[in-house]
Amino acid sequence: MTEKNVPFTLDSVKEIEKSNPTPFYIYDEKAISENAQYFLNAFSILPGGFRNYFAVKALPNPYIMKLLKGVGMGADCSSLPELELAAKVGLTGESIMFTSNDTPAAEFKRARELGAIINLDDITHIDTLKEAAGIPELICFRYNPGPLKEGNTLIGKPEEAKYGLTRDQLKEGYRRMKAEGCKRFGLHTMVASNELNPDYFIETARILFELAAKIKAETGVELEFINLGGGIGIPYKWDQKAVDLEYVAEGIRNLYETLIIAKGLKQPRIVMECGRMVTGPYGYLVSKVLHKKVTYKNYVGLDACMANLMRPALYGAYHHITILGKENAPIDYKCDVTGSLCENNDKFAVDRKIPQPEIGDYAVIHDGGAHGHAMGFNYNAKLRCAEFLMKSDGSFEKIRRAETIDDYFATLDFSRL
Ligand SMILES: *Cc1c(COP(=O)(O)O)cnc(C)c1O
Repeated sequence: MTEKNVPFTLDSVKEIEKSNPTPFYIYDEKAISENAQYFLNAFSILPGGFRNYFAVKALPNPYIMKLLKGVGMGADCSSLPELELAAKVGLTGESIMFTSNDTPAAEFKRARELGAIINLDDITHIDTLKEAAGIPELICFRYNPGPLKEGNTLIGKPEEAKYGLTRDQLKEGYRRMKAEGCKRFGLHTMVASNELNPDYFIETARILFELAAKIKAETGVELEFINLGGGIGIPYKWDQKAVDLEYVAEGIRNLYETLIIAKGLKQPRIVMECGRMVTGPYGYLVSKVLHKKVTYKNYVGLDACMANLMRPALYGAYHHITILGKENAPIDYKCDVTGSLCENNDKFAVDRKIPQPEIGDYAVIHDGGAHGHAMGFNYNAKLRCAEFLMKSDGSFEKIRRAETIDDYFATLDFSRL
């Protein structure tokens, strides 16, 4: 197989196009819901319980967040608007994990008002939080493992990352928070991004479980939860393999038994903040071929651009492209698939073989369900597109309209010109 499936038909795209021109996103409600259930089921074997706080930044649409709330997920927020979005969906209190960094005081204040779990990124933020909003009963710290000893070679270069506290700062942090009257404690780390190696997550759990014992021994603090962060990858390429979540959950459970239960530690709940893995594979950017151009290379120009999906241009990321209706045609036309920005890296694919496209064909760009629409920007005054939810009954609901020129002008006052 060299093709990825599309769960909707050419006819349904033409139907949507009657009221909403391309490009637009389609998210598959049933697939998102089933995948979320599979994820939560896999991790339900953990003795202390499990919860995923969906990383709002991955797909900040309230209809998607509501769907995920329905299966029991919370929200992982890192900015004021993300907190407000969670609140609008009815997520408040400890259903919100506030994992921010370089945090403005006003955001700590709002997070406290909502009763969110506050995850501090730095030792100095204790004072910022105390001044802005007071010390909460429950606090979490983000750990940066830094240059790890041999044996943990799976983990990249956390010492180059801006996030988190060192081990010594962490211990000082728990001691201080205890002295300030905190009663409940969490520990967090996130050292992976789009990682497909399942052992990486088991290894992360080992680091945190071993650290939990040290924290207890040295500060007397017993952790209520351990947050393994997000970062579970998805198979963007058709020949990649999804992370086997049952394998990961089992690996973590085995470590939990030997490093937590056997050591007599209080049993913490395991939590994660996955975004990409939850919705990523189930979002599709639908666009149309506007032009075919042949110079020193072949170019296929779409009506979508980086404003709609930035990952290929930003990271050279692979996103599979299907030409709708040509799923069985030979894949023999080598080209760059481009957008219209005056920016040469505005390309969805470089030297990619696709079926011979014609002007007016629909190109579906896969795996845009996370860090897709959300990363969009207005450079070149390009407008962000609409989002549709393909419901379980096969109907399509518009869950975000496309931006208009008036939206783009909304922050300008032309009256003083
Ligand atoms: C981005 C991010 C996530 C989500 O990452 P995914 O790759 O979407 O799983 C979770 N937690 C934090 C702190 C993040 O910055």
